[in-house]
Amino acid sequence: MYWDERNECIGPEDLARLQFARLRETVRRAARSPFYRAKGLGEIEVRDLSDVRKLPFTTKDDLREAYPFGMLSCPLDDVVRLHSSSGTTGTPTVVYHSKKDIDRWTDLVARCLYMIGVRKGDVFQNMIGYGLFTGGLGLHYGAERLGCLTIPTGPGNTKRQLKFMKDFGVSVIHVIPSYALHLADEVEKLGIDPRREFPSFKYALLGAEPHTEETRRKVEEFFGIQAYNSYGLSEMNGPGVAFECPEKNGMHIWEDAFLVEVVDPVTLEPVAPGMQGELVITTLEREAMPILRYRTKDLTTLSDEPCPCGRTHRRISRIAGRSDDMIILKGVNIFPMQIEAVLIGIPGVGRNYQVILESRGHNDHITVKVEIDAHLSIDDYRSLEELRKRIVRELRDEILVTPEVVLTEPGGIPVAQGKAVRVVDNRTT
Ligand code: AMP
Ligand code: ZN
Repeated sequence: MYWDERNECIGPEDLARLQFARLRETVRRAARSPFYRAKGLGEIEVRDLSDVRKLPFTTKDDLREAYPFGMLSCPLDDVVRLHSSSGTTGTPTVVYHSKKDIDRWTDLVARCLYMIGVRKGDVFQNMIGYGLFTGGLGLHYGAERLGCLTIPTGPGNTKRQLKFMKDFGVSVIHVIPSYALHLADEVEKLGIDPRREFPSFKYALLGAEPHTEETRRKVEEFFGIQAYNSYGLSEMNGPGVAFECPEKNGMHIWEDAFLVEVVDPVTLEPVAPGMQGELVITTLEREAMPILRYRTKDLTTLSDEPCPCGRTHRRISRIAGRSDDMIILKGVNIFPMQIEAVLIGIPGVGRNYQVILESRGHNDHITVKVEIDAHLSIDDYRSLEELRKRIVRELRDEILVTPEVVLTEPGGIPVAQGKAVRVVDNRTT
């Protein structure tokens, strides 16, 4: 169901009752998985909603350790789909879905789209990666559920994207924010007036990576459209977790499907109302893989101010950053440790390295500075160039993005006082 007034405008007592019933069921289900059983979940009794705090937190590392089947809470033959978080090579984190899980996820995505005005008759072009990444299929099925003509272009091939937008009268696109700006650049280069070229274009959904209000405004003004922030993570299905309504003042987080907490990332205690903290989410409806108190590492604030749109679900603010060192580059998650693991394995690489992120034009750029081993001669150009190319190649295979690699002499990277500064993020958006 994509306009679900009873649930979207539910009163606080009814919501609490619904959440409590669903939380109990979730805990009961989760206790069937080897992972939560080992945590003693069967013994914990949930008597009211605040008992959520008796439950264990779940982290990305937990999911990695539970790979491949440790989190499964239903018979394997009830699972119809598997997704994975972006960018994490090594042991991936996977999420399973039953038929009902996919159906509910699709409803939530359709609910988001309906909220901003997307209807049957709209033409939806999905410029986000398909495959294991959830942004592709997640939005795809949501748009189809509304009856939209849905075009699964995926990312890249900008000329074809623009041609399809024009030829099929595309009215809605889903895109990562940096690619939306790139699209605008291409249109400008071609000397086209976007408002004339794409008269049907109305909405852009910007998702998967952090972006600023300024980026949204640029996209809106350039194309003459409305752009909305879309938040999600594969552990909580993917897109369809929180989404802006036409008020564009925070994203409604769907509290009938997700139980939300905001905690201090160090003490793990709840923050005072309205203060920034780490978003922690418990699934309330998932069958195949319920997750309790998932530490998203995303920093945000939660607002319970009534929203003029009439929906009662609380709103989270634009994601301010992450409480860990995960880098999100072009929508792909990268952990500095992945880079380190590659560098360590290459002979000729010295002790220290540093990752520098910058905005170049509208694109994120990653440079990896690497000290060479003291035994290598700084004058042996040919060997150094071979080493540099090898590092680029091996890093690209690991992080799925091609970095610029700069070699420096031993000691060329300043040593920090205390903790090493592995990542310098100079990006402006
Ligand atoms: P993945 O599990 O690969 O889908 O990555 C999920 C992560 O992407 C989230 O935990 C956030 O850090 C980030 N992310 C997704 N959507 C947004 C958004 N609208 N704004 C900021 N960060 C986002
Ligand atoms: Zn609203």
